[in-house]
Amino acid sequence: MSVHANRAAYVRSPWQFELREAPLPDPGPGQLLLEVAACAVCGTDFHVADRQAPDWQPFGHEVSGVVRRVGEGVTRFVPGDRVALDSSAPCGRCEVCLPPPQGRGRPELCRSVATYWGSPAMGYSERLLTPQECAVHVPDSVPLDVASLVEPLGVSLDLVQVAEVRHGDHVLVIGPGPLGLGAVALARRAGAERVLLAGRSHSAARLQAGLALGADGLIEVDRRPLAEPFAARRPDKILVTASPGVIPEALGLAAYGGIVAYIGVAWSPDAIVEIDADQLHFSKLSLRSSMASPGLHAASTARLLETLPELGERLISHRFALDDLPQAFATGRSAEAKPQVVKMVMVGEGAE
Ligand SMILES: [Zn+2]
Ligand SMILES: [Zn+2]
Repeated sequence: MSVHANRAAYVRSPWQFELREAPLPDPGPGQLLLEVAACAVCGTDFHVADRQAPDWQPFGHEVSGVVRRVGEGVTRFVPGDRVALDSSAPCGRCEVCLPPPQGRGRPELCRSVATYWGSPAMGYSERLLTPQECAVHVPDSVPLDVASLVEPLGVSLDLVQVAEVRHGDHVLVIGPGPLGLGAVALARRAGAERVLLAGRSHSAARLQAGLALGADGLIEVDRRPLAEPFAARRPDKILVTASPGVIPEALGLAAYGGIVAYIGVAWSPDAIVEIDADQLHFSKLSLRSSMASPGLHAASTARLLETLPELGERLISHRFALDDLPQAFATGRSAEAKPQVVKMVMVGEGAE
């Protein structure tokens, strides 16, 4: 049994960061020891740093890397494999996961998920241990820093699937963060006829990335009403990646029979919204939520990154080293720097 030297970033609210020695044992049964190549920064990390971490904890959950050791019983991976991680995966064994007649065949509802979440090291570290269920192979043509987008793109893909975006649909994506930008690209790929992206004008780099990823136009909501471009035809599908507060307005805007799907955690009383149930009824509207946990899409999004190389190029705006994590978070919070940020990625030693 050997011990593997490791450094891992820990966070405590508000906005305290610390690099710790966090040595790791050899991988246990079913586990992989990964050298972290990249970990992308997620909006959730900002919430954690701001107020969700009362005690010191490791963090980072959009991870790619290279397998260095495998535990007993690992069949799908060997040392040297390039992988990306879902932050959790269905266990595959419980009554919910197992296919009929043994079970319900609903792995997306599994509550006994496999995950690497927890101490001593997560994505912002040199190495981590993960159950093999969370890992997928990364195609050779996808750089490992780009492969850190496998997990967030899975969230975008889930949203687009929950909204049932189809050929010919008119789509409105509200919120130009990385999840919204992924949704723009994936809605386009699903055959949407018109895709508009709404956001505030200060998110300049993100709005421009939206155009590059296939949006037909932008709605800068601080400059004109959200409804303005829809006088002739309302959107069939509205994908909300912003605060839930916008859901009532989205429902008011959707076409007859439309679907409003959202992923947007308020972490505050703003989560309570008031909706008009009569409007839902008489306009045949659906309101659906997407929560892509456990992750089911990592294998698909790893292949998507191969066929849509512009996704990685357009989404990653900033790269930084593990030692510079506090500066990256300062950049993400700075009024001057923020307009240039699309997505930041920590790039580790394991990157090629
Ligand atoms: Zn995330
Ligand atoms: Zn299960």
